[in-house]
Amino acid sequence: MSSVTEIFGCDVFNDEVMKARLPEETYKALKKTIKENKRLDINMANIIATAMKDWAVEKGATHFTHWFQPLTGVTAEKHDGFITPAADGKVIMEFSGKELVKGESDASSFPSGGLRATFEARGYTVWDSTSYAFVKDGTLCIPTAFCSYGGEALDKKTPLLRSMDAIRTEAKRIVKLFGNEEVKNIFTTVGPEQEYFLIDKEMYNRRPDLIFCGRTLMGARPPKGQEMDDHYYGVIRPRVSAFMKELDTELWKLGILAKTKHNEAAPAQHEMAPIFTTSNIAADHNQLTMEVMKKIAEKHGLICILHEKPFAGVNGSGKHNNWALSTDTGVNLLDPGQTPEDNAQFLLFLTAVIKAVDLNQDLLRLSVASAGNDHRLGANEAPPAIISMFLGDDLTEVLDSIESGKPFIKHEAGVMKFGARALPAIPKDNTDRNRTSPFAFTGNKFEFRMLGSTLSISDPNTVLNTIVADVLAEFADRLEATDDFVNEVNTIIKETYREHKRIIFNGDGYSAAWELEAKERGLLNLRSTVDAVVHWIDTKNIELFERHKVLNRVELQCRLDIALENYCKTIHIEALTLIDMVSKNIIPAISRYINDLSVCVVNKKAAFGEIDCEVEQKIIAKLNTYLKEIYTLVRKLEKAVAAADSMHGLEEAKAYNKSVNALMSELRKPIDAAELITAKDYWPFPDYSDLLFTI
Ligand code: ADP
Ligand code: MG
Repeated sequence: MSSVTEIFGCDVFNDEVMKARLPEETYKALKKTIKENKRLDINMANIIATAMKDWAVEKGATHFTHWFQPLTGVTAEKHDGFITPAADGKVIMEFSGKELVKGESDASSFPSGGLRATFEARGYTVWDSTSYAFVKDGTLCIPTAFCSYGGEALDKKTPLLRSMDAIRTEAKRIVKLFGNEEVKNIFTTVGPEQEYFLIDKEMYNRRPDLIFCGRTLMGARPPKGQEMDDHYYGVIRPRVSAFMKELDTELWKLGILAKTKHNEAAPAQHEMAPIFTTSNIAADHNQLTMEVMKKIAEKHGLICILHEKPFAGVNGSGKHNNWALSTDTGVNLLDPGQTPEDNAQFLLFLTAVIKAVDLNQDLLRLSVASAGNDHRLGANEAPPAIISMFLGDDLTEVLDSIESGKPFIKHEAGVMKFGARALPAIPKDNTDRNRTSPFAFTGNKFEFRMLGSTLSISDPNTVLNTIVADVLAEFADRLEATDDFVNEVNTIIKETYREHKRIIFNGDGYSAAWELEAKERGLLNLRSTVDAVVHWIDTKNIELFERHKVLNRVELQCRLDIALENYCKTIHIEALTLIDMVSKNIIPAISRYINDLSVCVVNKKAAFGEIDCEVEQKIIAKLNTYLKEIYTLVRKLEKAVAAADSMHGLEEAKAYNKSVNALMSELRKPIDAAELITAKDYWPFPDYSDLLFTI
């Protein structure tokens, strides 16, 4: 095997390859266009396309695709061959600048909410030259944005790029005011930690709920769950380790900075974290990561499950979105340095984030809303559905002292002693950790922890960038207008902290007490997707997104429509799957077991006369009760689905949320209870022990 440094990025048309393969002036011109966000000249595009094609063909590619991220949240690709007929009945491999820069695709099969009716069906894909092209599976993939004829964003990338422009513009105004004239570019950075489950493919294939819904709709608790905490950071089993090694290699080839891997809290649960990079590239890479995970798992006879809550009773999977702001001069604007109390620029950015989060709890919450994530948020494992911010004691004290005007007294960090002579004492880390906060400051970045494991990170980052840009714009307006800069900076920090500190909570976010306190503080608690997504089109939010040209009213309405549509479809499929499994497998299995037990009673009596059959009879009686409950509930569920189905839009989503969801949980109870007293060889599906403990 070649070394990691050789493998890394070998399937990517990256800067090094461009430098080597493009004529010098084309390379320079391309860099300039990227940097200045200019349109690519067609002659240049032709040269780049040919170089790209030659490189890709050497890598074994035969096709190219405009790789994009429609509003389904997954990636889409349509492959076109490079072949072009030549005079002698042969073909040559060709790829033009036009094909590189712009593609046309039928948008009507992709969700577009209201946009489909309003605009023509054609959609256009446009090269995002800030994200490198790469070769995957014999195809040259060109990362593209996907828009309608009128320029409305039909994808997740376009608004993300627009939001990066917005925050760049506003953050630059601030750093200029602090005298940092040399800063030419500011960009947001993201490191998304990705959780997932691995289960045996053969078991998976016998669970229709996993196949159709990505999660189990039934399943009694196994004798052991995660209570021993022995899986978290535990020794990685050989089969999983082989998967992880191949995953690393494949991700490295694609230039993805896969860095950390470990077992997670739940049995069969794992995590991969890359090194952070620019938001846009991080979003592309995270989509690729999820795709590669699934593919590699299958090669190992495994299935990678990315659903937010595949198994009841053990942790679900999330994604932690680590987010910061960097300048092209290498400064992380969220790094407090050694003396945050003297770092006014940092404190200004920090208070901007505080205000942005407080004012836009609704947007942050809705940016992570999905039917799957509803099973996590608010349940006792993930952050609650309430948005709050953790700053840690030190920073909170710094801000408190600014607010009160009292001097800040720094705690000495001290040293940690291990009490053994062989172990050195090490300085204590001042950046304390709080694992229960949905939005935590972790030293020099914010960690937004509410994302679901399947989610594209584009929406939450689009929201984050835009809301912070908006506050920075307001700060910049004030600071540009003042004669007393230093004083105004202090006033802004003081005022903002005072007005928005209700969002800061350093305590236990999982506790019931916090829910009550949050209510008193007036914080939002949007429990379900349906409660959250309606805020896409609040006037405040339309104005905010339009102010920064990130999304317009029509695009926002379209996002709401699609969110509701996806939600209804997801629950609909789950309900039908459950009805199917119950009617075709569960009821027959329980009946069969009851029948065999009854035959047993008859036979026992025939053989032994007045013999005690209490055990069999008790089991029969219990199962019969469950059977009846199951039957009644499944009929109710069918009716509820039909009723929900006859409705539209928000009303329909509410019906799925309130009645269909509730009935599915109800129905699960007698099924799981029956499973616990049914002989294993009668039960039609692999159980939780089989699924979670056999790898
Ligand atoms: P944790 O304790 O949550 O595992 P780590 O320090 O391991 O935290 O980092 C988690 C993620 O945060 C990694 O993906 C890392 O690259 C990312 N990260 C670190 N610094 C930044 C930054 N400035 N901007 C964005 N992400 C960052
Ligand atoms: Mg983390």
